[in-house]
Amino acid sequence: MTTDSPRDRDREKKGTGGDGRDSRAGRDKDPRTSFENPVAGFGVTFSAMFKKRLTEQYPEYKKPTAPRFHGRHQLNRHPDGLEKCIGCELCAWACPADAIYVEGADNTDEERYSPGERYGRVYQINYARCILCGLCIEACPTRALTMTNDYELADSTRASLIYTKDELLAGLTEEMVDSPHAIFPGADESHYYQGLITGAAPGTVRQVAVGKGEKRADAVTEDEVAAAGQPDTTAHPGGATR
Ligand code: SF4
Ligand code: SF4
Repeated sequence: MTTDSPRDRDREKKGTGGDGRDSRAGRDKDPRTSFENPVAGFGVTFSAMFKKRLTEQYPEYKKPTAPRFHGRHQLNRHPDGLEKCIGCELCAWACPADAIYVEGADNTDEERYSPGERYGRVYQINYARCILCGLCIEACPTRALTMTNDYELADSTRASLIYTKDELLAGLTEEMVDSPHAIFPGADESHYYQGLITGAAPGTVRQVAVGKGEKRADAVTEDEVAAAGQPDTTAHPGGATR
């Protein structure tokens, strides 16, 4: 009577080839096989030696991409420096990876970022999610969003892979003034989309970006309000609303 389990019997069978003889030991002893196996292994090496090398010397050498390669996004500007993004969120809705976050806001005469009514106050792309498919740039109605050929997007933290508006916004050329600033005198937004604006008007100056936490020079500080004390409403029965 044997105490071997079915697994032991199976293992034994495999080692002996099922007929009781040790087939592996027999193979190793065959002089022809023990010569051919290493030669066959080196054959792979020798054949690979004469093939075209695929190794890239990155990052010392950066292989140029195809002209229409889908790389990092860019938020474009009009020729005078105003932003093309109108905060419509169509890019975010088109994104299959839910990688874009947009918050729109209203332009004012004192703080204008784009020629029309609205602008993108918050704009973020999460490159931990983005699959660089390009659907967002197809959805953008103003060509505010395009893709560059920059593919160096890897990083070690999730936070650093979320690109903010400041990182995505295109740089300034000589004809531009940084936003926010006033619209070209006498123009409306249609002139921008017709390509009639080719640069900032002479004398255009950047406005104070209160929405970004900047303070106007004539703004009353909280300390000044506290130093001035509460308004005297006793002189007027109607109070401060008089
Ligand atoms: S390229 Fe594709 S995945 Fe990336 S943000 Fe645009 S729509 Fe989303
Ligand atoms: S990038 Fe284009 S689609 Fe996206 S919010 Fe701005 S204008 Fe709209």
